[in-house]
Amino acid sequence: ITGDGEALSPIEKEIERALRPLSFDDFTGQDKILENLKIFVLAAKQRKEALDHVLLHGPPGLGKTTLSNIISNELGANIKITSGPVLDKPSDLAGLLTNLEPFDVLFIDEIHRLNPVVEEYLYSAMEDYKIDIMLDSGPNARSVQIGLNPFTLIGATTRSGLLTSPLRARFGINSRLEYYDAVLLTKIVKRSAHILNMPIEDEGAYEIARRSRGTPRIANNLLRRTRDFAQVKGDGRITIAIAEMALTALDVDQDGLDDMDNRILLTIIEKFKGGPVGLSTIATAVGEEAETIEEVYEPFLIQEGYLKRTARGREATEKAYRHLNILPKYRSGE
Ligand code: ADP
Repeated sequence: ITGDGEALSPIEKEIERALRPLSFDDFTGQDKILENLKIFVLAAKQRKEALDHVLLHGPPGLGKTTLSNIISNELGANIKITSGPVLDKPSDLAGLLTNLEPFDVLFIDEIHRLNPVVEEYLYSAMEDYKIDIMLDSGPNARSVQIGLNPFTLIGATTRSGLLTSPLRARFGINSRLEYYDAVLLTKIVKRSAHILNMPIEDEGAYEIARRSRGTPRIANNLLRRTRDFAQVKGDGRITIAIAEMALTALDVDQDGLDDMDNRILLTIIEKFKGGPVGLSTIATAVGEEAETIEEVYEPFLIQEGYLKRTARGREATEKAYRHLNILPKYRSGE
């Protein structure tokens, strides 16, 4: 459920596209970021300049790709989409950059995973709209400078802490996306249901929203799965009863934690006496990549107060014990 959209079937991808907001007005939440972006975009257009480079960070599924597409729409520019791991060699980057038209947007997802050699090339491109390309190698090596059209780089990352400081310093606009509250997600769920022609009751929408880990992508996915239950087990309408049935079947608990969230907490409590325990130890115990735990699960568990990050490792909080109905006396030393 929390996946990054890569394992989607063609039909699901089609649905994702249909649900993606296309303009600032269509985008729900992240008010502060939006307010600023609207001004920066308008100012750049009035001055007939490229928008400053934008860094968007935050957990997966909060709308970084969506916002980047919206920015390019609002600029009336094209967007070229790539990602850090895909840009293997400087020539991959040079190919993209030299094909940009004035004021176009280049979107690099997972920009923290750029090859350092490629990243070096990005510096002069971002700063002076120029790149130096090496021709030949060995004794004949020489470089030529190529001028680029003014463009906007939008970088997205789940781990802004992994960005090098020279790269980070080259972004004039730096925004951190926050988890959405249940009210905002209810709006998003209702909008999606409307686009997909699904009858939904307010309480049903709210139930899905409040159990979506604060994440629009998850809310949309849960909505689609709930529709299946409404169709097979009900009369097609998404009521609160149908939403509850679907969410329980999908292992999303009453507090909106999913199976992996609960496994992480249970492991820390039962196997490691509540912590502190290191991330990689938890990862091995639950059978998930440490990186995924750190990028996807942990931020939400910390924000909701189930987990604490200390110098010595991760610790389950009282709230985690209560959530799992385990007596805190189980903890070591108490
Ligand atoms: P990210 O790039 O941060 O992983 P995406 O931009 O791919 O996230 O968003 C995931 C899905 O959630 C998209 O398909 C989009 O439809 C939906 N979504 C994200 N943010 C919003 C929002 N603010 N309003 C409505 N839908 C949203």
